[in-house]
Amino acid sequence: MQGRYGNDKFNYFLYILFWALWLINIFVWNITASIVIDLLMLVVIVYALYRAFSKNINKRCIENRAFMSAFNRVKNWFTLTKRKFKERKDYKYIKCPSCGAQLRVKNKKGKHIVKCPRCANEFSKRI
Ligand SMILES: [Zn+2]
Repeated sequence: MQGRYGNDKFNYFLYILFWALWLINIFVWNITASIVIDLLMLVVIVYALYRAFSKNINKRCIENRAFMSAFNRVKNWFTLTKRKFKERKDYKYIKCPSCGAQLRVKNKKGKHIVKCPRCANEFSKRI
């Protein structure tokens, strides 16, 4: 493995995707769908191995960074949704009209003056 890229989080994701497809394939009885999943599994594992044995470390790092950015966006969305659900009785979540940041305000009826901590934009919101 000297001079080779090895495994990163993107590769681990590809391995998990491979096994997830394998698991799905057990329950698929349609022969054409099964073949399509088989081909998809082959593409995923060949790509993962190609990445692991690649000598172009710089390019693999860029791919991993792009993957981590997308992965974190999805992870943050789930974290925020879980938090919104947990705090749904005490807080309301609103979007800043200027920068789009999620802001949390007390769930109290009436007019609220909100100042965005990210862009310092002040606006009023009725709940
Ligand atoms: Zn803002």
